[in-house]
Amino acid sequence: MPDFTALTVERAQRVCAAALREAGFETSDLDARLLLQAVLSCDATALARDPARGLSDDEAARFSDYTAERLAHKPVSRILGRREFYGRDFFINERVLDPRADSETLIEAALAQLPAGEAAHILDLGTGSGCLLLTLLAERETAKGVAADVSPHALKVARENAERLGVAARARFIESDWFKNIQGRFDMIVSNPPYLTPGEMEFLDRTVADYDPHLALYGGADGLSPYRLICREVEKFLTPTGWVIFEIGSLQARAVSAMMDEAGFSDVQVCQDLAGRDRVVVGRRG
Ligand code: GLN
Repeated sequence: MPDFTALTVERAQRVCAAALREAGFETSDLDARLLLQAVLSCDATALARDPARGLSDDEAARFSDYTAERLAHKPVSRILGRREFYGRDFFINERVLDPRADSETLIEAALAQLPAGEAAHILDLGTGSGCLLLTLLAERETAKGVAADVSPHALKVARENAERLGVAARARFIESDWFKNIQGRFDMIVSNPPYLTPGEMEFLDRTVADYDPHLALYGGADGLSPYRLICREVEKFLTPTGWVIFEIGSLQARAVSAMMDEAGFSDVQVCQDLAGRDRVVVGRRG
């Protein structure tokens, strides 16, 4: 384990990056910088401004702890307890799925159907950190919504994120197994449910398998159970022209689109993520 005692900022960052690189981490430079920024509570510009500044003993010890955690394959977001999603910082812990950049595709698809200035009412099923609903509320100041999750621990995280982002007054938090404790109708229902199959669960990357809650990953025997369940009941919770927007696994577009067709949705469309993989299915009731 590298010892960072009495090193300058620049040297410490290099030593950390070299250790990560040697251990096979592809994002070694970025990781080292983000971890050091967290130790020093500064942004990239401030870090670069004073490369010759020496680390205090406390800072060196913390940087050493963070580096050790990263070397043990803990994701940087989990070491820092936060993750950037759609340009905002979300607090995360071991009870919630680490927000993925892929899910920003859902945000784009949802915003396209949420004209600014309208008082849309949005439901997020399985909200986790709250990243989907809270981002939509932050982007659309006239919208309000409900964040539902079966895990009270996740709801606590989502509530804290709502406070931090200044959207708590427009959000409600309901402990609910999918629709069980939900009442009323919504203009839009969004969800990134667990959708992995048993086969995919077996071959998860360590950073996912060891750190993301399996409750947020496993979608039953064919990975589609949550979609089936939601599609069966969704009509009762949508306004007459309401939207449903699902994140999906990249191989699930056909199956989920078919379920939505069958549930009476029109204009069912599939959107791709930045890597060109099917990632989101959108449909409108009626
Ligand atoms: N996209 C996540 C992964 O591949 C899975 C998230 C989910 O099941 N909703 O690890």
